[in-house]
Amino acid sequence: MQFLERYQAKNEVDLGWWSLIDRLLVALPENVRIKAIKQKWGVLRITLDNNADEKLLDLVRELETESSTICEFCGKTGEIRGATGLRFVRCLCDEHFAERQHLYVLPKPINPVKRKEKNNE
Ligand SMILES: [Zn+2]
Repeated sequence: MQFLERYQAKNEVDLGWWSLIDRLLVALPENVRIKAIKQKWGVLRITLDNNADEKLLDLVRELETESSTICEFCGKTGEIRGATGLRFVRCLCDEHFAERQHLYVLPKPINPVKRKEKNNE
């Protein structure tokens, strides 16, 4: 099993979330190792080894929940953009969302009424 060294922890997410990683590292006892840190569906995901106690796991859940309101890129107030199943679900502030908005445009849905008319032609 590959573990993540503490100094590598911040490489796994964009800098808007680095303050969350700092809070994890400060609370992380010597005997607990990091299995994974990543962004999934716009939320921070932290996995620790089995030495993590309940108190530490509570902190992990707290940090993960908080990440859903913090822009991954700049740390300002953000919200989850995009719907589950889309490729670009991220937690972004208004500015970063505006920059990346083109990524979130869904293909035009087929208008069922128009389709029916066409079939009757
Ligand atoms: Zn931002």
